[in-house]
Amino acid sequence: MGLLTGKTALITGGSRGIGEALVKAMAAEGADVAFTYHSSEESAMRVVKEASVGGQKIKAYKSDAADYAQAEQLIKDVTSEFDSLDILINNAGITKDNLMLRMGEDQWDQVIEVNLKSVFNLTKHAMRPMLKQRSGSIINMSSVVGVFGNAGQANYAASKAGIIGFSKSIAKEVGSRGIRCNAVAPGFIETDMTHALTEEQQKAYVNSIPLKRLGSGKDIADACIFLGSDMSTYVTGQVLSVCGGLNT
Ligand code: NAP
Repeated sequence: MGLLTGKTALITGGSRGIGEALVKAMAAEGADVAFTYHSSEESAMRVVKEASVGGQKIKAYKSDAADYAQAEQLIKDVTSEFDSLDILINNAGITKDNLMLRMGEDQWDQVIEVNLKSVFNLTKHAMRPMLKQRSGSIINMSSVVGVFGNAGQANYAASKAGIIGFSKSIAKEVGSRGIRCNAVAPGFIETDMTHALTEEQQKAYVNSIPLKRLGSGKDIADACIFLGSDMSTYVTGQVLSVCGGLNT
């Protein structure tokens, strides 16, 4: 369709799951795409190959989103390789679930660093080229769990709620410079992250979803295409729940 023709998107965690769907959907809409992975090199190379079919430039970078210096280097590399940086999707994320009484300090720290500090790291360094261009769309992957909490996920919910406050603040800070910042809050999406749930748990979740199904990566990618494209030039500081009505 070409909603993103002429734009460059940078997506963290594009080697699997929602990130993989984002890379492919954005490329199919005409964007050049840079994406990162942490350890799944083989899968990242497969995504490059599969997303490159339309002639767009697709490149994978090994980069730890939780590492400030690596994020700085990544933005340097991407802006020297690609013509512009129009869309940043902070998608990389992990879970380390445990009840509070059993949650170790390392489980707290890792989730906050990968899920929340990464959003600061990438946004901080993407800001300069976007300010220069006087345009940009930053999309941060939150979760419905960041809105209504979840037992056994205090670390994850805190990281995802933090992303919402961060996104609204950035929207207010740089809106006058043509940069938009929104959060997407997926519900239960079929990826490696939710495959950890038992069949019983999945059934219980599906029962509580008004649309009676788990979401797909494409469901999230469609929302991100809207937020990354010129279809949403008057939308900033918002949390778009893509959850089959779960958050209702
Ligand atoms: P996933 O299938 O587990 O994939 C996670 C992706 O993040 C992988 O590409 C992984 O790279 C990358 N990653 C992990 N740690 C990283 C790091 N330190 N630096 C760079 N990349 C890193 O997860 P998903 O389900 O697609 O979730 C994607 C995002 O959506 C996450 O932020 C998640 O919290 C959010 N979300 C998911 C759901 C859901 O139901 N699935 C619901 C709400 C929100 P490697 O492959 O190299 O490890």
